Amino acid sequence: MLHALSFDVEEYFQVANLRPSFCEASWGEVPSRLDVGMEAILGALERNGARATFFFLGWIADRHPAWVERCLEAGHEVASHGWRHAFLQTLGQEGLDEDMAKAEAALLAAGAPKPRGFRASTFTLTRDTWWAMDVIAKRGYSYDSSVHPIQHPAYGIPDFEPGISNVETAEGDLTEFPVSTWRALGRNWPVGGGGYFRMLPGALTRAAVRGLERRGAPACLYLHPWEFDPGQPRVKAGPSAGFRHYLNLHKTLPRLERLLQEFQFGTMEEVLGLALPR
Ligand SMILES: [Zn+2]
Repeated sequence: MLHALSFDVEEYFQVANLRPSFCEASWGEVPSRLDVGMEAILGALERNGARATFFFLGWIADRHPAWVERCLEAGHEVASHGWRHAFLQTLGQEGLDEDMAKAEAALLAAGAPKPRGFRASTFTLTRDTWWAMDVIAKRGYSYDSSVHPIQHPAYGIPDFEPGISNVETAEGDLTEFPVSTWRALGRNWPVGGGGYFRMLPGALTRAAVRGLERRGAPACLYLHPWEFDPGQPRVKAGPSAGFRHYLNLHKTLPRLERLLQEFQFGTMEEVLGLALPR
């Protein structure tokens, strides 16, 4: 079974956890660490004959168009993570529309086709920001992957039905492919990536993917280039945010390699059956 692997392409200094140290106006001044993570990821995918979806921030595509090109050349999907990594509740409906338009222009300028998939910053698509689905559909996207069906203080829709589903919007239908969760003890547990991927034992992630496979449900995993960069500068963050950001960075690559050896991974649009013939 083909599972979906995705990467949210952003710099370590654009992560919500470290936002207090890096305001948006400072981003252009901070040295980029993108190459370290992107080289590691593209290398691992190539070694294992796997494909993935890269949700680029428009800000990144604008400054590093060569990475968009390299992803496309290697047969990966390039999708949109918005322009400036702002939370949906901060952007509002019109702000999201503008942010997405700016990101699309940067992706197109970097040589990518019009993106068909979208992922909001920090999974901020919740019941409170559900209006975003209308914006995403109106802008002509085929699918969204911004819902995390878990209980979390900052995001998530804990009662969202895990797995691929159809969302009816005022602007037409949209496919939602939420990040994978595992149902146990009456609730959904995060097994799909990010901090949880580094926190939980690798065997647990693999068991979850195997479990989903057995039920005929493709997994949707996500990681970030900065999670493959143990040498990134250490900046002051609150105890909990710092713990989550820096935990087990050296384990991300071997864990990903193991997953790629054990399971078959492709792009989001391949798994959703939306991929155009190559
Ligand atoms: Zn992000």
